[in-house]
Amino acid sequence: SNDLMAGKRGLVMGLANDKSIAWGIARACADAGAELAFSYQGEALKKRVDPLAASLGSDIVLPCDVSQEDSIDALFDALGQRWDGLDFVVHAIGFSDKSELRGRYVDTSRQNFLTSMDISVYSFTSVVRRASAMMGAGGSCLTLTYYGAERVMPHYNVMGVAKAALEASVRYMAEDLGRDGIRVNAISAGPIKTLAASGIGDFRYIMKWNELNSPLRRNVTIEDVGRSALYLLSDLGSGTTGEVLHVDAGYHVVGMKAPDAPDI
Ligand code: NAD
Repeated sequence: SNDLMAGKRGLVMGLANDKSIAWGIARACADAGAELAFSYQGEALKKRVDPLAASLGSDIVLPCDVSQEDSIDALFDALGQRWDGLDFVVHAIGFSDKSELRGRYVDTSRQNFLTSMDISVYSFTSVVRRASAMMGAGGSCLTLTYYGAERVMPHYNVMGVAKAALEASVRYMAEDLGRDGIRVNAISAGPIKTLAASGIGDFRYIMKWNELNSPLRRNVTIEDVGRSALYLLSDLGSGTTGEVLHVDAGYHVVGMKAPDAPDI
């Protein structure tokens, strides 16, 4: 515990349960003294998110379906009733029809392409626009991406294309908002077993491959991601914007199977 985030207020979007990357980030921020608000999608998740938020001292738990502009408006209206400003926002949201997270990318349907881009890419732009309007004293915006944006990963398919667009949007928004002291960054996390990840074909194999072949010879945890998020969301990251920070046990530097890695 430290006071890196004392006096800072942040909105965390995308908490589903205690396996969520959003949870690792929220805990790191709360431990560092941040005051938090949460948004969740759908009534079914409210009963999971309420106690998690309460355990971090937050009673601001608001619904938001990011596929609807009026739902995002309602979220920021409600947040504005509670807080007169905002220091950071975490967007830990992605979605694609899991029937297309296997097989060939070339078979992606137009409908699922648009849905994946809408929820996994445009929603961050839409959220940052509204969040930045509340960030009078500067701020920090963070989203989550994956290496499948940069290289072809098995089964990631349309999500890889969406994450590439998400990373490009981070760079454009960094330029748009930099003059207002608002930073926009992404963390490219290694594979972590979460609800969203369970939709990806052969995910266990991908986890095992990363564990055996990453320089640190392990997978990352939501605590690893939380600590790096703390850097980008706090004043430690004051000189960093438009960045995609890899928190993947170093996997992104690897060009070939490790000589000591057994066959899997
Ligand atoms: P998760 O299932 O815990 O979180 C995904 C969240 O997205 C859920 O809370 C879900 O409610 C939310 N969501 C989906 N559609 C939504 C909508 N229309 N409106 C509002 N919320 C919606 O899984 P996670 O792995 O923690 O995912 C968080 C982010 O991290 C995602 O962007 C994911 O792509 C990214 N990521 C995950 C991994 C991994 O291996 N788990 C690796 C790199 C990046």
